[in-house]
This record gives sequence, C-alpha cells and structure tokens, in this order.
Amino acid sequence: MLDRYNREITYLRISVTDRCNLRCVYCMPEDGIELLEHADILSYDEITAFTRVAAARGVRKVKFTGGEPLVRRGVSRLVSMIASIEGITDISMTTNGILLPEYAGELKEAGLQRVNISLDTVNPSRYRELTRIGELEDVLKGIDAAIDAGLAPVKINCVVRQSSGERDAREVSSYGTGRGLEVRFIQEMTLSSGSYGIVHGGSGGDCSRCNRLRLTSDGKLKPCLFSDVEADIIDLGYNRAIDFALEHKPLCGTINEKGYFYNIGG
Ligand code: SAM
Ligand code: SF4
Repeated sequence: MLDRYNREITYLRISVTDRCNLRCVYCMPEDGIELLEHADILSYDEITAFTRVAAARGVRKVKFTGGEPLVRRGVSRLVSMIASIEGITDISMTTNGILLPEYAGELKEAGLQRVNISLDTVNPSRYRELTRIGELEDVLKGIDAAIDAGLAPVKINCVVRQSSGERDAREVSSYGTGRGLEVRFIQEMTLSSGSYGIVHGGSGGDCSRCNRLRLTSDGKLKPCLFSDVEADIIDLGYNRAIDFALEHKPLCGTINEKGYFYNIGG
C-alpha cells in the first residue's frame, strides 16, 4: 500500500503495553505515568486480526515494542499468532532485555526472529541512573540469553545524549564489538521539541523513505511518531483506520505534544 506521497508502507510497529519494568529518564515523564486500564488495551485477538488486514494490504515486517513488551503476560503467544499470518516474513522485538533470560527460548520457538536490546551504558551505576531502577547485570544476562536462543542478529540500541563519541556510547560500542553485536546509536529526542535524530546504523530518521505505521497498545494507529495524528482502529474499523493513516501520514514529522516514547514505542 502507498501513502499519499507514494511511500510504500510495509512495516508495522506494535506496542503491546504501556507498562515497563524500568523508568528510563528520557522515556518516562518524571512525575510518573497514568497507566491505561486493562479494558482499553487491545486483546491479542484484536492485534492479530488488525495485523492480518494490514498484511493483506502489504505489511511484511512487524516489530513488537512497548513499554516493555515482555511485561505483558503471554506475549510469546501473540508472537506465534502474528507469525502464522500469511505475508508476515519478518518479526522482531525491541526490549530492554531484563526478562530475556526467562523468555528468549520460548520467543524463538514462537517465531520471533531477532531482537533489538536497549543498552545505553555498560557502567552499572550509570545504568541505574539512566533507568532509575535497573541492574546492568540483568540486561547483560538477557543479551547472553538472546544469543544462546539464536535470536540473531542481536542488535544493541544505544541512546546517546550528544554523540556516539561520548564515554557511555564508546564503552557500549567496545562491549558490542567484543561480543560481535551490531550497535545502533540513537540521538536522545523530545517528541514535543520537533527535532528528531537520524538513527545511525538503522532505518529511522529519513522521512522520505519512511515505510512505517505504529499501533499503540490502546488501538491508535499512528502514521508518524512526530505527529499527533492517529486513528482509533476499533472506532473506525481496521481498513478505514489504515486508509486514514495513509492519507494523513505527513511528508515529514513535526511535533508530537500528546505522546511519550513509552506509550508509542520509539
Ligand atoms: N522497553 C523497550 C526498550 O527499551 O527497548 C521497548 C520500548 S522503548 C520506548 C523503544 C526504544 O525507544 C528504546 O530503544 C529506547 O531507548 C528508545 N527511546 C525511548 N525514549 C527515547 C528518547 N527520548 N529518545 C530516543 N530514543 C528513545
Ligand atoms: Fe521502559 Fe523502554 Fe522506556 Fe526504558 S525506554 S522506560 S525500558 S519503555
């Protein structure tokens, strides 16, 4: 399917929850978050039915995100439901990695192909500072579990404050090189600021080639991270929500004053 600027849309990012087991300083508002009610969250059947319609219209690639996708109970079941949809050929997940020792094996079995794991520093006290509550050791074990389970290639997402030359980023880079992992650096952004960074080593940040739609855990289809525009897939129906998103996908992102990373998924 094409949007109004003739960009082919093949990629759906699905946020399965707004909840998270970390509190990263750049992602969650400082004064805490108001969690969605369980009843407002799409069920696995709804997410699967929507994705089936999107796949029939040309979506090939699905990435699960959150919040932290692994805190939603039974997410491997959702992975296998999505993996069985005809046309979906690429299934990955962005995770903070904390729960991977528990779930990497069953995710692989369910059909997950690879993971992006977020790691901004390999210094334990900096990790605690940046995530407010996290233990570095847990994510390192998660990375090992992903490698062991064959969720390859395991990629590291590293958010940088200024540049990939800063100390935390350089240390993550040597850790990644040592383990044979690809590291992608993402500039820290503020959605309401209107400035967004290129993802070095990734595909984000180039609006002219953007091929994505995003589905939030409460059923809003968003054509762009840097825009307030969204369509409710339950109110509008799946196909009409997709039509709306295609018609309203901006040529270039501007600002998003309503969303945070934790509820859209980055
Ligand atoms: N909880 C999972 C994780 O951290 O990987 C998935 C959701 S998280 C919102 C997705 C990605 O967005 C992560 O790689 C995270 O580092 C990134 N992110 C969050 N806030 C950001 C910000 N303000 N600027 C740039 N990237 C951000
Ligand atoms: Fe949670 Fe991921 Fe946001 Fe960190 S970046 S608070 S791990 S959703």
